[in-house]
Amino acid sequence: MKCMSEKACNNCHFITKENVCPKCKSTNLSEDFGGIVVMFDVENSAVAKAMKIKEKGRYALKVR
Ligand SMILES: [Zn+2]
Repeated sequence: MKCMSEKACNNCHFITKENVCPKCKSTNLSEDFGGIVVMFDVENSAVAKAMKIKEKGRYALKVR
């Protein structure tokens, strides 16, 4: 039995347990990701700007 593992969206880097990204509806999800960043203050975050993140949540820095 395989446990539900988290995946990161290849398109927007959002981390989810679903098979479809709840943010951008992409099915291009990967379990092979590195670095989790939690975005709270998207407006004032340079990382959020660099990654084009517009909503708070948990994101992967790298998705392979
Ligand atoms: Zn996505």
